[in-house]
Amino acid sequence: MELDKMDENDWKYHGEGNKSLVVSHVQHARVLRLLKYSTEDAENSHKTTEQAFRHIQNIVDYSQNVMKPLLGEKFVHNGEAVKLPLDFVRQLSLKVQQERPESRCDKVMDTLSGCALCLPNLTQLSSCCCCSREHRPPLCIEIKPKCGFLPASRHITKDIKRKVCRFCMHQHFKLANGKWKRLSRYCPLDLFSGNKQRMSRAIKHLIEEPQNNFNIFKGGECIYSCSDDADVLQDLDELAQHLRPYFLPSGSLLSRQQSSKVVLNELIQVIVSSLLSSWDGPRSGQLRKTHLSEGRVTCDASLLHRDLLRNGNHCLPKDCVLDKILGTQMLDNLDIEGLSPLLKRVEQHLQMFPKERCRLQMDGPYNASFLEKVQNCPVEDDGSIEYAVGKVHQYRVAMTAKDCSVMVAIATCGEDDGLDQSLEIQPTKPRFTCSVSILDLDPKPYESISHQSRLDSKIVNHYLRRTQPNN
Ligand code: ATP
Ligand code: ZN
Ligand code: MG
Ligand code: MG
Repeated sequence: MELDKMDENDWKYHGEGNKSLVVSHVQHARVLRLLKYSTEDAENSHKTTEQAFRHIQNIVDYSQNVMKPLLGEKFVHNGEAVKLPLDFVRQLSLKVQQERPESRCDKVMDTLSGCALCLPNLTQLSSCCCCSREHRPPLCIEIKPKCGFLPASRHITKDIKRKVCRFCMHQHFKLANGKWKRLSRYCPLDLFSGNKQRMSRAIKHLIEEPQNNFNIFKGGECIYSCSDDADVLQDLDELAQHLRPYFLPSGSLLSRQQSSKVVLNELIQVIVSSLLSSWDGPRSGQLRKTHLSEGRVTCDASLLHRDLLRNGNHCLPKDCVLDKILGTQMLDNLDIEGLSPLLKRVEQHLQMFPKERCRLQMDGPYNASFLEKVQNCPVEDDGSIEYAVGKVHQYRVAMTAKDCSVMVAIATCGEDDGLDQSLEIQPTKPRFTCSVSILDLDPKPYESISHQSRLDSKIVNHYLRRTQPNN
C-alpha cells in the first residue's frame, strides 16, 4: 500500500462498530479501521494528528504486547498505525456515508487526523494454499461472544448475578430501551460450555437473532447480519441459498425447505468444530476444568432443555479460541462490585500523587511491563496501591476480552469439486480448511470503569423488576 497514492475508489465500506468504521480494499486482503466520534465530542474532534496517531499506536501496542500473549499468537494479527492523505480520507468519508446503517450515524468518521489502523482483512482467508485455485469464495463467520461465565465473587450483593448471565439480563434492558425489538435466545454460557449440543443451540440462536453478535461474509461481502424489521424466515432462506453450494452436492434432490435445514445445520457443525479446535497441536486433549470448579456453568435464563444442561461435558479443550477468550475474561474475578473500592483506592492515590499515573501505567504505555502488572498481580489484597492497580488493569483486560469478536474463516478444499452425489448429507470434516482469529482488541479506557459500575446496577435492577415484580 503506497500511502501517497491512495485512491478512494480502491476502497469500499466494510462495516462498523461503536468506535470505528472499517473499509476494505477491493483487490488486496486489507482493511483500514478509522476512528469515529460523536458530533458533540469536542475533545476528540480537536485531537491533533499526533494525538490521534498516538491513540492508534496505543491500540496496536495493546493488542500486540498485552492481548496477544494472553489470547495466543495464532489468533491475533498485527495491525499497523498509518497516516493517510487528508484528501483521501475526506473523499472516502463521502463515499461510504450512504452505505452506513442509519442506527450508526450518530457518530462521524474522523476525517481530521488522517490516522487509521491498517489490518489484514480477516474475512478473506489468505493463508490457505488451495483457495486461490478454488472457485468458491471463502465464507467467514463473525461472532461477538460476550461474557461466558457467571461471576463467583464474594463481593456480589445481588444473588441473581450468580444465576443469570450478564448477556441474558442485558437483553431485557436493551429491549426496554428500544435498542432491539426482539429478545435474543443466545446465551454465552452455552457457547462457552464446550458441549457440542449446547454450542450448536447457541449458534442457532445467534443465526435466528443476530443483533450485533453475528455476521456472515462471503468473499469478503457481508451476506447476513442483523436486520431489525425484516422477515426472519425469508432471511434464513436466502442465507441457506448462499450456503447450499458449500454444503450440498449440486444434484441434491432435497426440497428447498429440507435443504435449508441441512445446510444451516452443516454450517453450525463446522463453526462448532472450528471453535473447539486446539490450534497448538501437542497439548490438545486437555480440558479447561476451571469454570466447572469455580461455580455454576448454566444460566437460568437460557431456554435449553434441562436434560441438555445437565448431561454431557462442560469443558473446553485447552488452547481452543474460546478457552483463551474465557481465561482472559476471567481475569475479572472480583466483579465490578469487588473492583469498585479498589478503583477508589487508585483514584485517591492519583489525586494525592498525580505523577504516579505514569509509573502505574494507568493509560499505558502497553508494553511488557504492563503485561507483567496484569499477570503478576498478588492474589490477596495486601492493602497496597500495586494490588489495586493490578486488579484495575486485569479488569480492563477482561473487558476487552468480553467485547472482542471471533472470526472463523472457512474455505472449501481443492478436491471436493465432485461432491459425492450419492450421499445427501456428507460428513463435514475433510472438506474445509478453517482459520480462526480474534479482532477488536482495543484497550478500554480507565475512565469507563465507573460507567460499568452504574450500568451493572441498572441492568440488574431492571431485570429483577422485570422478572420478579413482587420482590
Ligand atoms: P465494537 O462496537 O464491537 O467495539 P468497534 O467499533 O471497536 O466495534 P471493530 O469491531 O473492530 O469496531 O470493527 C467493526 C467491524 O468491522 C467488525 O465487527 C468486523 O465485521 C469488521 N472488521 C474489523 N476489523 C476487521 C478485519 N481485520 N478484517 C475484516 N473485518 C474486520
Ligand atoms: Zn445467559
Ligand atoms: Mg467490534
Ligand atoms: Mg471495539
